[in-house]
Amino acid sequence: MKEKSPILIFDANIFLTGIDFNLFKGRIYTTPKVIQEIKVRKYKDKNRNILNKIEAAANSKKLIITSPLEKYNYIVEEKSKKTGDYQALSEADKELIALSLEIREEQDEIVKIYTNDYSIENVCSELNIPFASLYKDGIDSKIIWEIYCPFCKSIHKPEDLNKLCEKCGSKLKRRPKII
Ligand SMILES: [Zn+2]
Repeated sequence: MKEKSPILIFDANIFLTGIDFNLFKGRIYTTPKVIQEIKVRKYKDKNRNILNKIEAAANSKKLIITSPLEKYNYIVEEKSKKTGDYQALSEADKELIALSLEIREEQDEIVKIYTNDYSIENVCSELNIPFASLYKDGIDSKIIWEIYCPFCKSIHKPEDLNKLCEKCGSKLKRRPKII
């Protein structure tokens, strides 16, 4: 049996790398709020080229821009309140995670989120949604993550991600390490 390639779901920061969509197999999804974020960002003129690429990809159905059902927004809200990421997520971020859930549940597809936002990644790991980062110079480059306790601020080993802090019992999270 041939393995299905995943449906890719792109965050605004992935579009803003200027990536060529044709490098990816399979369809790409995003939400109207993500596109709106790219349009309202400063330096709109600088993004003109990217917006043109998005339009062309949408016309050829390589890129599908759609909003998730309300019930999936609700699941993401509840989950992100539990992980402590609720405040850090924009409306577009939450919609993007909700759309991934919807595609997985309603269309029975494999999904993968591309994002450079670690609050999105935190919530995705809670929901078992695979994710990847992508920077201007390639995939998953050069970020060093630090595992920390959001409550008592202690630093932990990489393998302790999502475990509980032995000092205070809070769930450990990760953030980019400043070096
Ligand atoms: Zn702690």
